[in-house]
Amino acid sequence: MRPVDKELQNDPTRKWTFKWQVSGPSQDPFMLIDFENDGTAILFDCGIRVWGKVRTILKTDHLCISHAHIDHLIGFDHIIRSLLGENKVLNIYGPKGIIHKLHSKLAGYDWDKSAEQELILSINEYHDGLHFNERLACNQQFARPECPTAECWDGPIINENRYAVHAVPVSHGGSPCFAYVIIEKDIARIDKNRLENLNIEPGPWVGELLKQYLDGQVSTSKDQIRIGNEWVNRKDLSNDLIRIQRGRKIVYITDTLYSTDWISKMQRIVEQPDIVVCESTFLNEDADLAKIYHHLTSVQAAKIAKKLQAKKLLLFHISSRYHPNLFQAVQEARTIFAQTDMVQTSRKNGRRNNDRKRHTYDSANSRVSENEQPEVLS
Ligand SMILES: [Zn+2]
Repeated sequence: MRPVDKELQNDPTRKWTFKWQVSGPSQDPFMLIDFENDGTAILFDCGIRVWGKVRTILKTDHLCISHAHIDHLIGFDHIIRSLLGENKVLNIYGPKGIIHKLHSKLAGYDWDKSAEQELILSINEYHDGLHFNERLACNQQFARPECPTAECWDGPIINENRYAVHAVPVSHGGSPCFAYVIIEKDIARIDKNRLENLNIEPGPWVGELLKQYLDGQVSTSKDQIRIGNEWVNRKDLSNDLIRIQRGRKIVYITDTLYSTDWISKMQRIVEQPDIVVCESTFLNEDADLAKIYHHLTSVQAAKIAKKLQAKKLLLFHISSRYHPNLFQAVQEARTIFAQTDMVQTSRKNGRRNNDRKRHTYDSANSRVSENEQPEVLS
């Protein structure tokens, strides 16, 4: 593939090629990445608010779970409920023990009326350098297979045409936990200005040219493509019109202690991510509690973003004990990493954040702010 086009790469107005959405600042965590044009989506964690995302859940092919604390997994039953009746394979990924834990949740229901259901869960678990996979079929009452498969774990856990996802083991006390890195692959675009200068009418040939280029089909000097009534050399046209834009990189971190061990592993996978979405459960004044509960402070989140040379840090999973002053976390982080922000929320029913009581922290941080709705950031 030809080199990335620097002008295009540095264009501040360049659009995201997918939509993404993150749970509200102190809601149970999730992050949804929606490749609208491809009709596919990836979900990271399933906090309770995924219940409102049925349409996106129906096209979700991959569910990456960080760990099995209830605030990250409580929406799982809703996802299964939404997918019943679908002829679909949902690929699920997680750390050690995730197959047993998800199977145990499923075993809590009767599936005696599910003989016609075609939903399959393909659950992938990674530890000790191995990748374990079990396929649980709804019409088999989600029974675990007698001979699960295992192979070496090396490289990304998902490798699709448009993106790859890497799992990075982090340190969350007794709960095996992953952070995730999503790397969109480079994108080929048509240079519209050049197209105009050449005075060529766009048409179905544009999609054909891009597809052939992305599929890696090598052009020979004899390859021709039809534009209107004329035949044009495909190789010359590609060289003239196609420009390469670097894909986006997003890092999703929740929940963990600060540790240079996993941060350096992550640095080997990703540099200069566009966004680091990072938990910031505690303020710096409560760093001792962060250590006890194996979470990050806002300042530590900022240090991670700085080490990764991120373009932006987005804080979430902030303890509701800090209501109504959640923005303090952002202010603290900005002293270390200026490009810090917090997930935006919209208000419903006219209630305001400062109506909220001061909550005490519990290990699952499972309190939900009822009037916080995440917004699509794209
Ligand atoms: Zn946790």
